Amino acid sequence: MKIDILTIFPKMFNTLNESLIGKAQEKKLVEINTVDFRDYTDNKHNTVDDSPYGGGAGMLLQAQPILDAFDALENKDIKKRRVILLDPAGKKFDQKMAQDFAESDNLVFICGHYEGYDERVKSVVTDEVSIGDYVVTGGELAAMIMIDATLRFVPGVLGNNVSAYDDSFSNDLLEFPQYTRPAEYKGMKVPEVLMSGNHELIRKWRLKESLKKTFLKRPDLLENHQFSDEELVMLKEIKQELF
Ligand code: SAM
Repeated sequence: MKIDILTIFPKMFNTLNESLIGKAQEKKLVEINTVDFRDYTDNKHNTVDDSPYGGGAGMLLQAQPILDAFDALENKDIKKRRVILLDPAGKKFDQKMAQDFAESDNLVFICGHYEGYDERVKSVVTDEVSIGDYVVTGGELAAMIMIDATLRFVPGVLGNNVSAYDDSFSNDLLEFPQYTRPAEYKGMKVPEVLMSGNHELIRKWRLKESLKKTFLKRPDLLENHQFSDEELVMLKEIKQELF
């Protein structure tokens, strides 16, 4: 996968050279290309912003440098390309969107600043996306969150035996509680079943704990969940145990 990022703060993306995403780049599973669209301004002072027509506070990013930087990208004709505008007014990013983005050959992220963009930037955009109902200073941190979450679904990025499809939210459920050594710490014991070696019992325990945690902490996630017969029985038990 190729990821192009249009930004006026390319150095912020050095963070993506660390950890799993850094390794994914070394393994050539992803190529990350940052483009400073200030290099594409058509004025001698290299300004990328101007005041809004109609008045009002703050400055807006102009369409010209962003659209010229976009036009200069390689592989414009690539089929599975998504052009993502980071915008608090966009659709809220979630695990399903990350999974969907991971199917693309090329993701282009356009990072805003100041009070946002000239509306005409949207002429090349396929997806307007938000990280949540709050406002941050620029689109860079939002883009990094989306890139990290998306790359977890690209085969090979997480390494063998680990799948983003098992993570919280991938199947509408939160992840079950996990433990590692020692078996007892300050009087707190690891549940016996996890040390039993009985894979079927462990699977059932984990599924039930996942359901319980989701029911208690994020019942909204269960609203569209397609319950299996096994899960329906477990949910009934959970309700009886709790109430
Ligand atoms: N005036 C804008 C508004 O009220 O919607 C906010 C502009 S914000 C200070 C500057 C840029 O940060 C935005 O253009 C966007 O690229 C990015 N940004 C801020 N909050 C965001 C969010 N929740 N999700 C995605 N991007 C965000």
